[in-house]
Amino acid sequence: MSYEHILPKGCVRNLIIDGRIVPAISGRTFETRNPATGVLLAQVAEGDAQDIDLAVAAARRAFEGPWSRFTPFQRQECLLKLAQLVDEHFEEFSLLDTLDMGAPITFTRGRRQRAIGMLRFYAGLCTTTHGETLPNSLPGNVFSYTLKEPIGVVGAITPWNAPLTSTIWKIGPVLASGCTMVLKPAEDAPLTALRLGELVLEAGFPPGVVNVVPGFGATAGSALASHMGVDKIAFTGSDVTGRKIIEASKSNIKRLMLELGGKSPDVVFADANLDAAVAGAGMGVFGNSGQICSAGTRILVERPIYDDFVSRLSDFASKLRVGDGIDPQTQIGPVVSAKQLDRIAGYIAVGVEEGATAETGGARLESEGLRDGFFIRPTVLAGVRNDMRVAQEEIFGPVASVIAFDTMEEAATIANATPFGLGAGVWTQTISKAHIMAKAIRSGTVWVNCYGLLDPVIPFGGYKASGYGRESGLQHVEDYLQTKSVVIQNG
Ligand code: NAD
Repeated sequence: MSYEHILPKGCVRNLIIDGRIVPAISGRTFETRNPATGVLLAQVAEGDAQDIDLAVAAARRAFEGPWSRFTPFQRQECLLKLAQLVDEHFEEFSLLDTLDMGAPITFTRGRRQRAIGMLRFYAGLCTTTHGETLPNSLPGNVFSYTLKEPIGVVGAITPWNAPLTSTIWKIGPVLASGCTMVLKPAEDAPLTALRLGELVLEAGFPPGVVNVVPGFGATAGSALASHMGVDKIAFTGSDVTGRKIIEASKSNIKRLMLELGGKSPDVVFADANLDAAVAGAGMGVFGNSGQICSAGTRILVERPIYDDFVSRLSDFASKLRVGDGIDPQTQIGPVVSAKQLDRIAGYIAVGVEEGATAETGGARLESEGLRDGFFIRPTVLAGVRNDMRVAQEEIFGPVASVIAFDTMEEAATIANATPFGLGAGVWTQTISKAHIMAKAIRSGTVWVNCYGLLDPVIPFGGYKASGYGRESGLQHVEDYLQTKSVVIQNG
């Protein structure tokens, strides 16, 4: 499939600051390459602290200037226009995501409804989010109400694993709330955010409302996280970086929203529909090459069906078609980088050293046509105990750790025995088990007889070390607002 029309040979992608497309002040660029082939896609301007300063200043001017005069209805119209533009350019976004981070084109195309739906959902919230009149008990004639006001300038820092949807999860609520933003996309896949930034300008948002500054975490990211002109950081990424952001936010007591990693349990009871459970749990861990924060990486299986399940899951995994994401037949693309590939291979070796057996997978794929990319076979580790590193640490690759359990209580105990609490799955045909487990598991989402289903109206976020704040859901825009109480003594 040709893509020269969206990424001509030798192209450079610049920063978006104050409505203009500009090079980095330093003049430096960095490369972004296709993880399936190693081919150079573009040179990207490398923003650093100086560019972040300019972008934050532009966001502040827009917040206090033209954007503050937009009515909720005008914000809604701009967001609907942006949704329409993203819809019109959807094939381009699917290609950019596939080329830049490797996800299969069927997967990135399949996100159309989610991406456009999210923007339309946030457009609706522009005009429906409001304060309240409060029935106080103060003596005399006292009237009280609350106003919901935008927090100000938001610094949004995103990962590379789902560029379009994770960027929309930031842009949508920020714009609905009336805040402005500086977006720092991940250095491993910055192209989608830059293109989205261009469409934001076309959609009629004033200059400076959305600024996009790609660059590295240690320079651009950390400058944004500690910037005194930023009121809130909305961060999606690893818990390691999340901890650094908490530190950096102390400078001016920034608000924070942290969407961090996971080690999500997917619990399969003996009474589950096994065909559905194997396919659902399989794609729950191998989908997007395991590079999904809520991937169900610990599969807990009731002992009577353990061996059968492991053998079916291994069969399922070994039949998945691994290849270049641009091929519509591909089900599993490459992982994002050589660093990520080494990390995953390292974890598989650790699991085997700790006593697990690799039933299938376990190796890099270097066959003809895949040699220049970062491909790894979907891997099933059996005989895993929950205290092993492969059951406790986020691998972020296509590796399932399968653990046996005997009772529902034990399943809940194991499910909760990690520092994380992002997603969880339960497979059973007994409704009481589904409800009991849904309540017992400490995580932001529990999927029953499905895995990974998301919708703009359903809140998504973490318990425990998986972070705080929620994306999606009716309250999401509220996270970018602050409440002002007004108390009036009448006469
Ligand atoms: P990462 O933490 O390495 O990087 C995420 C972003 O933070 C990047 O833009 C990076 O440049 C930036 N960054 C790095 N160091 C920084 C610093 N010191 N200060 C400020 N910014 C800095 O994570 P990643 O490898 O890009 O993404 C994978 C991680 O993201 C996984 O842990 C995954 O679980 C998590 N994730 C979570 C969710 C969620 O919704 N909970 C969604 C997707 C990914």
